[in-house]
Amino acid sequence: MLTNDQLSQWDRENFFHPSTHLAQHARGETATRVITGGKGCHIEDRDGNKMLDAFAGLYCVNVGYGRPEIAEAIAEQAKELAYYHAYVGHGTEASITLSKMILDRAPDNMSKVYFGMSGSDANETNIKLVWYYNNIRGLPKKKKIISRWRGYHGSGLMTGSLTGLELFHKKFDLPLSQVIHTEAPYYYRREDTAMSEADFVAHCASELEALIAREGADTIAAFIGEPVLGTGGIVPPPAGYWEAIQAVLAKHDILLIADEVVTGFGRLGTMFGSDHYGLKPDLITIAKGLTSAYAPLSGSIVGEKMWKVLEQGTDENGPIGHGWTYSAHPIGAAAGVANLNLIDKLGLVENAGKTGAYLNKVMKEAVGDHAHVGEVRGEGMLCAVEFVEDRESRTFFDPAKKVGAQLSAALASKGLIARAMPQGDILGFAPPLCLTEAEADEIATKTGDVVREVLG
Ligand code: PLP
Repeated sequence: MLTNDQLSQWDRENFFHPSTHLAQHARGETATRVITGGKGCHIEDRDGNKMLDAFAGLYCVNVGYGRPEIAEAIAEQAKELAYYHAYVGHGTEASITLSKMILDRAPDNMSKVYFGMSGSDANETNIKLVWYYNNIRGLPKKKKIISRWRGYHGSGLMTGSLTGLELFHKKFDLPLSQVIHTEAPYYYRREDTAMSEADFVAHCASELEALIAREGADTIAAFIGEPVLGTGGIVPPPAGYWEAIQAVLAKHDILLIADEVVTGFGRLGTMFGSDHYGLKPDLITIAKGLTSAYAPLSGSIVGEKMWKVLEQGTDENGPIGHGWTYSAHPIGAAAGVANLNLIDKLGLVENAGKTGAYLNKVMKEAVGDHAHVGEVRGEGMLCAVEFVEDRESRTFFDPAKKVGAQLSAALASKGLIARAMPQGDILGFAPPLCLTEAEADEIATKTGDVVREVLG
């Protein structure tokens, strides 16, 4: 094996890391961490450090690390048939079986699954399908997409536009003009603190109504949202939010895309976040938990209403002009089948609800009263702690202090991985769904210790 020094040098010289401060990394100011193994909720690096990964990679290793059932399914598929495409009606046993398994678990009125490789490309697919749908319906003007500030939907041209975080727009000439953003359902950060949750929900719905009125309902095709805002700060919606938003969308013939890349396959304690909050989407985006990231695979689940129009479109225009070489890749599909079977066998959806509630409870006990903790919030196996300079006025810390990054670095030095979310001083926790109560206790205790060490 190469020495760490040699690998670090090659890393700095050759590897363009995503979402990284490029100049600092190239200068060697940030560490190269080489991960070599993982088991359950823990990963290990080349220096022998064992860490509790309380973010499951990027909230994706839902069944936990080192599951032989999935590794073996991948190996078997690779030996038998590593690749064949899915164009013009081709398939494999794995891809056909997986599409049935997904629809068996999906909310009502879903019809078909289109497979991709990442959450970003699945959302690109969704927007193309929405545009195609309205063209076939004879509504060529109805094309704009509404997303929310703080939503995260990927980092491509269209999906980076849908994402409502400044970092993903700045200097990239985004968002594209077809994308417009509306208020995030972020009750803690409401401008008027006198508003009750119900008032705030009514405010979000009326902001949406006003945006639609300004733009013209005949120009708006779809609304995209995560059931729980993820990368934007792990923010569960206030009660009644989705009901109010869906009523507005229905009134104006606007499609709903539920981006379930994080919430799909159990994270909220239900198979889908749509089940949890009563969403009735026209399209559902899935990725991460579909294979627990053992292989790259994503999907767009298409509802019956849209599917009928897509069929009509191909009768009128010929085959749909949309495909990736790796759509329904057999190795990803084999990983998906094994992963969904394992989720059922281990009861991980139920555990996410139960142990996730426990994690949120012990986290509140550990840090909820601290003078610099504004809010501890979460749902299922998602939890966030938001830090503020002043609790009463909810004042932000000076961003130059990088409080979130400092806290996550201090936690890492104690063997715990939590994510400093990209906007605001928020620590995010999204452990594998197989987390135990003892591991939840460790997460909360270490977080409490670090918060007191760093913030006093
Ligand atoms: N949608 C949501 C809700 C996500 O959280 C992510 C990634 O974190 C994406 C889409 C993009 O997925 P990917 O990074 O696989 O392109």
